[in-house]
This record gives sequence, C-alpha cells and structure tokens, in this order.
Amino acid sequence: MEPTIPLYNIAKEPEGYSAPGFFATKLDYVVGLARKNSIWPLPFATSCCGIEFMATMGAHYDLGRFGAERLSFSPRQADLLMVMGTIAKKMGPILHQVYEQMAEPRWVIAVGACAASGGVFDTYSVLQGIDLVVPVDVYVPGCPPRPEQIIDGFMLIQELAANEPLRRRYSPEYRELLASYGIK
Ligand code: SF4
Repeated sequence: MEPTIPLYNIAKEPEGYSAPGFFATKLDYVVGLARKNSIWPLPFATSCCGIEFMATMGAHYDLGRFGAERLSFSPRQADLLMVMGTIAKKMGPILHQVYEQMAEPRWVIAVGACAASGGVFDTYSVLQGIDLVVPVDVYVPGCPPRPEQIIDGFMLIQELAANEPLRRRYSPEYRELLASYGIK
C-alpha cells in the first residue's frame, strides 16, 4: 500500500498540563506558537542575494511551508525584515525608516555577507553591515547563502518568536537597544 502523505502538519502544542478535555498552558507559549507559524516577511532585496530568496520562495524550497508564504511589501503589515544584498550608505536611512514603520514585534535577518558586514565591498559607498542602522536578530553567512541557509536563519527567527516573553518589547533593555538606533 502507498504511504499516505499528510496534506498539512499540525504544530506541536506548547508545554502545559493536560487531562481528558482539558489543557492549560502559559499565554506566552500560545502567543509564541501563533507568531512562530505566521511570520510575514518583508523582502528588502537589492542584489544577488535576492535571487537566492526567490529560489527560497519557489516550489522546491517553499518557505510557505513555515507559514511565511504571505510576503508583505508594506512594512506596516510585516513581522520580519529580510535584508538581502548590498546596502549603499545612501540607502541606510531608508532601511532605518522601513524598520521604524514596522509594528512590534518585529525581527530582522541580515541575509548574506553584504547585509551582514558589507561583504567584499569595503568601499566608501557601502554600508559595512545593516546593524549600523537597524538591530539585527539573525545573521546568515555566505556570498550568496544557499536557500537552505536562508531557511535555517528563518527557523532561528521562528525559535526567537516562539520563546520571546510577551513583556520583552516593553523592557528597559529593549527600549535602550532601540534608543541606541535613534528609535523612540
Ligand atoms: S553577499 Fe554576495 S551574493 Fe549576496 S549580495 Fe553580496 S555579493 Fe551578492
């Protein structure tokens, strides 16, 4: 008999207490579970790493399997800023503005050597890493990184989203981090 392939996967329930007809857990866990599996990425692609992202969204790698097939081209409806490509210094303020326009909670991935550190372009015109203008949660190395690496970085963001305490965004440490980037 042919093995049956499930049409969908059910996310694993968070830690908690269960009995017949009863399950109790922490609100943080439930919110984390929902956030983890419904991340809306905003692709900020400027050069070759963007092509790898296109492959990551295509049928073979299919980032949609992780609940992220709804790309957002408006920062106001995005959870995850994915920066892919060389960022010129002139573009720095624009990237900063895009980040500011995103609602909390928001995460950032620097995809590839250029976004993470300027890559091979140690020149007067290229920003030497996007963390000079926005806080970064995950760095994906490579020039370019393969789609598997991008997915790996995305899964790290999922772990952050699942395990983030609800109060983190109100903490003095987080406020301080934003203030260091000139964000109120
Ligand atoms: S890291 Fe390499 S592949 Fe990616 S944008 Fe820079 S030069 Fe292109």
